[in-house]
Amino acid sequence: MGCQDVSVVRSEQHQPLEFAQNSLLNVLRGGYQGPFLLMDSAVVRDRARQFKAALPGVTPHFAVKANPDPRILSALLAEGVNFEIASRRELELLLPLGVRPAEVLFSNPVKPRSHIAFAAEAGVEWFAIDSIEELRKVHQIKADAKLYLRIYTTNEGAGCPLSGKFGAHCEDIETIIAEAVRLGADLAGVTFHVGSQCTNTTNWREGIEAAGKVLDDFAKAGLEPRFLDLGGGFPVRMGEPIPAIGEIAGVINRGLARLERPLQVIAEPGRFLVAEAGCLVASVVGATRRSNQERWLYLDAGFYSGLMEMKDGIPYVIDTERDGKPVPWTVAGPTCDSVDVCLTGHLLPENLDEGDLIYIRSAGAYVSACSTEFNGFPTLEVMVI
Ligand SMILES: *Cc1c(COP(=O)(O)O)cnc(C)c1O
Repeated sequence: MGCQDVSVVRSEQHQPLEFAQNSLLNVLRGGYQGPFLLMDSAVVRDRARQFKAALPGVTPHFAVKANPDPRILSALLAEGVNFEIASRRELELLLPLGVRPAEVLFSNPVKPRSHIAFAAEAGVEWFAIDSIEELRKVHQIKADAKLYLRIYTTNEGAGCPLSGKFGAHCEDIETIIAEAVRLGADLAGVTFHVGSQCTNTTNWREGIEAAGKVLDDFAKAGLEPRFLDLGGGFPVRMGEPIPAIGEIAGVINRGLARLERPLQVIAEPGRFLVAEAGCLVASVVGATRRSNQERWLYLDAGFYSGLMEMKDGIPYVIDTERDGKPVPWTVAGPTCDSVDVCLTGHLLPENLDEGDLIYIRSAGAYVSACSTEFNGFPTLEVMVI
């Protein structure tokens, strides 16, 4: 099938995205050169506006790791979005764009000393901690840092749980508060993360309640609590039902209204701002049936091209130009590593064949950023319109 006459067949369960089919056609008119991610910056800007409209009292700080492309960062900056970083390099991406370091949140709870020093020198003021050791580390490097404590909260119902790795538990919080008081450190706020692609709105309610209690403990200990960071986790449309941003905002706004003290409230959406703006276009390098049974589809993009979250069960929607009967396929990337099997039992048209184009929807988050050159397959090209 030629690349000229693309008419994408959308999978049944998928809500048509406003994502510009015409732009895809334009790009493909020149012929398919290899897998690429097409990002529509108008969709990025629209999501920033949606977020701000739903949560007027909450300042969004984009989680740079979701899509660190400077063109995307600029689009967000133009919408008045701030940023959240995890490393020195992420800050270095922001500085040339004119982002004010004092408004950047260094939210990685466990950071290399050299990255803290670099950020402090550049003018970053806010640093997350989730242990007594990190509190001491940041305090040694920047005694007047404004600190916020990442607390453990449930990640039930998140497509990609995060609370296993980070977050202070109840029994640790007391000692961290006591140490902050002893050091004279400015432990000013609390943060939590409900888990990425979170479809369970209860997590935000519980997170805000838990944070409110910890902020009360700060005040009782003589600290000056004034900052609440709701983290990320806001879900995007993929192959499963999700609560709309307005529904999540309702839960958050009610939770915030119950808090007793005046707070600066921020959030760290990553996926929400960029995922639906991206479509990954790949092609079939081989299709076969093994033992006359299992159907295998080998694409020119896979785990090492950044589709790592497919293995975590993030429900990507895959469209093709074929309209054959949907049958279960095992979908793999092009490399010779057995980890590069992205999906099993995924329903796709039975007549897919070598050279067919594959459209992976809502691929604007955590894909291009994770793309590698493993096994000699080039990193994903990113086009921004
Ligand atoms: C990854 C991350 C985010 C963004 O999460 P999403 O699920 O993409 O919204 C926000 N804050 C922190 C600290 C993170 O690590």
